[in-house]
Amino acid sequence: MERYTINDFNKQFPNDDACLEWLKNYLYPDGIFCNSCDKITPHSKLSNLPVYSCNRCGAHTHPMSGTIFERSRTPLKSWFYAMFLMSATRCGVSAKQLQRELGVTYKTAWRMFKEIRTLMQLTSKPMSGKVEVDECYIGGKSHGTRGRGAKGKTPVLGIVQRKGNVSAKTVKDVKGATLLPIVKEHILPESLVYTDELASYNKLRRHGYDHKRVHHASKIWVLGDAHTNTIEGFWSVLKRGINGVYHAVSEKYLQSYINEYAFRYNHRKDEQPMFLTILSRV
Ligand SMILES: [Zn+2]
Repeated sequence: MERYTINDFNKQFPNDDACLEWLKNYLYPDGIFCNSCDKITPHSKLSNLPVYSCNRCGAHTHPMSGTIFERSRTPLKSWFYAMFLMSATRCGVSAKQLQRELGVTYKTAWRMFKEIRTLMQLTSKPMSGKVEVDECYIGGKSHGTRGRGAKGKTPVLGIVQRKGNVSAKTVKDVKGATLLPIVKEHILPESLVYTDELASYNKLRRHGYDHKRVHHASKIWVLGDAHTNTIEGFWSVLKRGINGVYHAVSEKYLQSYINEYAFRYNHRKDEQPMFLTILSRV
């Protein structure tokens, strides 16, 4: 991904009008279709209103309607800037940081944060080839520790295609009956699946997967290409982020935090700046 800096941002989006113009061009790449004239017509922006009006008949078009910006009193540039901030670092920012940077109330920052995160939800394609599957535990009082069934922690199942995308999901437990359907939903049959020695993965072969295990208990971390280092890498960024940026995440919001991390991971190699990827989902 090319580096999109704060200077690039300010140059491309100097004010609210520039943001609205971007939105208009994005939503109506061939021009605005006027329902009254029943065709694409030239439009002009009304001064002081986020509205475009048909040059022929005067009918109005609101580019923000139906987007997360609708009914928000926060300036469009602040929304764009918040998206820029949330995509600019690998670990993300907190609502508290948004509040400081944007000069809005905490309540507003939190709402924006939540809305923008909905744009960073996953669109998962089925995975194939070499895929790593692993569980980790997040939350609880003493953070950072890893272990099965740790008290107060939420188990998360992670699936990552090597050199590809990641998908991670909170689960109620790590039993085979819970994990297998998720594996089958995300990984195409005949893929090579790497897991650790957890018994829940015993039936993978029976379900049509090629299966290799990593024996963490016997301290053999990497045996040939039988490792789960890719998903471990994702866990470490996720845990560092949740412990460092967010301090504590309630179970209720954990999945959307995870999705935000997965989004950044999955778009790390995008041609266009990640910020514009998020924006193109409004
Ligand atoms: Zn018209």
